[in-house]
Amino acid sequence: MLVFCETKDGKIRKPSLEALSEGRRLADAAGKSLGALFVGADLAGAEEAAQYGADAIIKVEAPSLAAYSSDGYAQAIADAVQAKGATVLLAAATSAGRDVAPRAAARLGAGYAADVTGLAMVDGRLEATRPVYAGKAVSVNRFESAVQVATTRPNVFVAAPCPKAGAVESLPAPAGGFLAVVKEILAKGGGAVDISEADVIVAGGRGLKDGANFAILQELADALGGVVGASRAAVDAGWGLPHSIQVGQTGKVVSPTLYIACGISGAIQHVAGMSGSKVIVAINKDPEAPIFKLATYGIVGDLFEVVPELTKAAK
Ligand code: FAD
Repeated sequence: MLVFCETKDGKIRKPSLEALSEGRRLADAAGKSLGALFVGADLAGAEEAAQYGADAIIKVEAPSLAAYSSDGYAQAIADAVQAKGATVLLAAATSAGRDVAPRAAARLGAGYAADVTGLAMVDGRLEATRPVYAGKAVSVNRFESAVQVATTRPNVFVAAPCPKAGAVESLPAPAGGFLAVVKEILAKGGGAVDISEADVIVAGGRGLKDGANFAILQELADALGGVVGASRAAVDAGWGLPHSIQVGQTGKVVSPTLYIACGISGAIQHVAGMSGSKVIVAINKDPEAPIFKLATYGIVGDLFEVVPELTKAAK
């Protein structure tokens, strides 16, 4: 089995560690060995994979892979799967994982399950559980292909240390001449955590009435070590909120430990993006708001009074 791992600032990204830990569990169940696969130009930090269950650390390292390239990375991953004779390939359902895993699957003629929330080995093959119809139903997928590929939803699987040998091995990189490469990344928001990886999200909707009022959500998020998210109505309102923090069907799917929905009604398209949160707190002045049907804890009240009180308590 192989798990495609992403690094950032010399460390393996948390969703990749989660995929790796789940890979370890599956490999043990199937009696297979587990390789952590890294692609790039500078793979410092890859050795950490040994602490999370990798029997082998496989590096595809070349200057041509310094910048992310959909077809370049997909080819490198597909080549590695073939070189190692892997039958299962996992990646985290991050932006890059969602982009590259189905491309690698297509190159391998493999079946692909996106954004899975449960995995098992049944009769030597992967079985993948994933939410469908905006989270209203769950589908259990079995593969007929020899190679099986899946991306794991961040914050669903647990990253658990499990030291292994982690022997390092290098594989040749695909020849260059890729069709597309990322030339530049313009970071917005000073390196804030991507909401799809956040453990605590304080989200605001149209009930905030103005973009400037999101400052009170930021204060609560800071006090809880979390990040701010938003409904589509808030993002579309022209309040200067970036689409990158939109939660929902046409935004990001999040599954934090704690999701605090402030002034959000709970439309089905919003719920599709956050119903997997472990604890949901809803603050809304309308006791009939649909969000309360979903909430673990509901506070009927004016968010402009409740949120500062929560911040005070959290501090
Ligand atoms: P509203 O529905 O207007 O709710 C505002 C809430 O704030 C109300 O419940 C109100 O009682 C409460 N409120 C007001 N003032 C206060 C106060 N002072 N204190 C406490 N509570 C207060 N939506 C998304 O979020 N994400 C998506 O990805 C998304 N994708 C969509 C895709 C499609 C194809 C379509 C058709 C729609 C999509 N939507 C999406 C939009 C969705 O249908 C809703 O319109 C949207 O989620 C509503 O946002 P809201 O809850 O912030 O606003």
